[in-house]
Amino acid sequence: MATDEHLLLSLWEQGQRRTPLDRSLLLLWGCTGAADAAHWPLGRRDAALLEARVRLFGAQLEATADCPHCAARMAFTLRLDELARHAPPAAEGLEVACAAGRFRLPHSADLAAALADEQPRLALARRLRVDGDAPLGEEQLAAVEAALAEADPAAQIEIALACDACGRGFEAPLDIAECLWLDVARRARQTMDEVHDLASAYGWSEAEVLAVPPVRRRHYLQRVQA
Ligand SMILES: [Zn+2]
Repeated sequence: MATDEHLLLSLWEQGQRRTPLDRSLLLLWGCTGAADAAHWPLGRRDAALLEARVRLFGAQLEATADCPHCAARMAFTLRLDELARHAPPAAEGLEVACAAGRFRLPHSADLAAALADEQPRLALARRLRVDGDAPLGEEQLAAVEAALAEADPAAQIEIALACDACGRGFEAPLDIAECLWLDVARRARQTMDEVHDLASAYGWSEAEVLAVPPVRRRHYLQRVQA
C-alpha cells in the first residue's frame, strides 16, 4: 500500500510534463512494469491500461459525455471489466489489406513520429505500409484508417449512449489513458492533502506521514479534522 502511494505520487509528478501519448506509456510502465509498450499495437496498450485501471481503482467508472445533438451533458456509469471482454486486442503482427496496399497496426512510437510530421495522417500511413506503392490520397487514407480501426477495435473504444434530454443515440470515445491519469492525479492530491494535514498537526515529514499505515493514518486524520 505504501509502495503504491509512492508510485502514484511519482507518476503524477512525472506525468505533468508529458504529452498525453508519452503519459500513457509512463502510466503503463508505472502500473505494469512494461518497458517496451511504445512498440505495442494501440489495442494491446489500451487493454493493458484498462486492466491496470480496474486493478488500481476498480471496474466502475463514472463518466460524462456531451450529446452532439442537443449539447446536454449526461452522466453515466461504465463497467470497465465488461468492456474489456467485449473488445479484446488484435493479434500480434496482424496486417490489413486494402486498395492502397498492406499495412501493419500502428503503435505509440508510430503515432509520436507521425505527429511530428506536417502531414501526420500521410506520414503514419507511409510508416505502416509494408507492401504496395499506390499514391495515398484522401480517399486511400480514409480506407486505410477504417481498415485499421476495424482490425483492432480495442484501440478505439466507443460507448453507445442514449441522451437523457433529447433521447437520441450517439457514440462517445473512451480515452482510457486519460481516465487512468485523472484517477492517479486525484489519488495523488488526496495523499498530499493527508500529508499536509498530518504534517501541519504533528510536525511530521512527508516520509514519516507516508510511513504510517492507512488504518492508523485515518485515525490520526479523524482526530485532526474533528
Ligand atoms: Zn441530446
